[in-house]
Amino acid sequence: MSDNIRDTVILGSGCSGLTAAIYTARANLKPLVLEGHEPGGQLSITTLVENFPGFPEGIQGPQLIENMKQQAARFGAEFRMAHLVSADLSRRPFALNIGSETLHTRTLIIASGASARWLGLPSEQALIGHGVSSCATCDGFFFSGKEIAVIGGGDSAMEEALFLTRFATKVYLIHRRDHFRASRIMLDRAMAHPKIQLVTNTVVEEVLGVEEKEVKGLRLRNTATGQESILHVSGMFLGIGHEPNAKMFAGQLDLDEDGYIKTQNYVLTRVPGVYACGDVQDRRYRQAITAAGTGCMAALEVEKYLEEHGR
Ligand code: NAP
Repeated sequence: MSDNIRDTVILGSGCSGLTAAIYTARANLKPLVLEGHEPGGQLSITTLVENFPGFPEGIQGPQLIENMKQQAARFGAEFRMAHLVSADLSRRPFALNIGSETLHTRTLIIASGASARWLGLPSEQALIGHGVSSCATCDGFFFSGKEIAVIGGGDSAMEEALFLTRFATKVYLIHRRDHFRASRIMLDRAMAHPKIQLVTNTVVEEVLGVEEKEVKGLRLRNTATGQESILHVSGMFLGIGHEPNAKMFAGQLDLDEDGYIKTQNYVLTRVPGVYACGDVQDRRYRQAITAAGTGCMAALEVEKYLEEHGR
């Protein structure tokens, strides 16, 4: 087995995983990146990124990810379209079951990110792919000339609503409160857009159209008055945040009440040699640049660990 023991494996190919890959590859550790269920992570399904330093005109999310991937590959990072099924962190080297085989590694960088959150309504789940979506950039095109709704009050919801105005004739932005988490600039843009109508203090009770297998509308409830109403739309986009992809480490690493991996000194988990970075451990900032920052930290910790414990 010893010939096949890796110095480091990186779970996830978003901003944090790719930054960790660049750093560990430049340290000659030949990292293996398991690309995961959503290769490229959240940036790969976003549009213009305007706040990543170094791009005065902004850069498209997928392009930024592609650049990072090429940068890591140039220094020897390996990529594999695979995802973790289970891990045994109690033995050394760590054992990673990826379905087709078990990999062994001295260190592990968990950069598995977070996935879109759903409302959890049975009617919503039944209509995913039939008018219900969590990815405006993937599915917006299908709603040309139609009226749609976006759910949420954070930056994701604003970004989705603004993007969807390219296709839809009208975008209802439905938020359960009348205060918004979104940054001022994004909220102002959404409020100023002639195609976007804000609907506050409102929750979705049911997505209509399950029998017809396409979204026909939403049954809404005003949380202030209790009054119900029907909104006729052809699509519903979720922009209500994300869930960390860390369930497979429950019992082996410390997770907080919402499932984020708990870390100390930014990226250290309770198992020496295992580091977590990016959105799987950051419930506070969740930015591309902070994910890149912690990816860098995790890589530097891996280098230090291998120096101290031998390769
Ligand atoms: P977020 O800031 O956590 O906002 C989630 C929104 O969804 C909140 O308004 C929340 O309502 C609502 N929500 C959550 N669960 C809900 C439910 N079950 N039913 C109805 N509404 C629900 O998440 P985010 O918008 O994805 O943003 C995450 C981070 O990424 C933030 O730091 C944000 O700044 C960043 N981001 C930045 C950009 C950008 O700069 N261009 C774009 C996207 C994301 P409450 O407010 O009532 O809790």
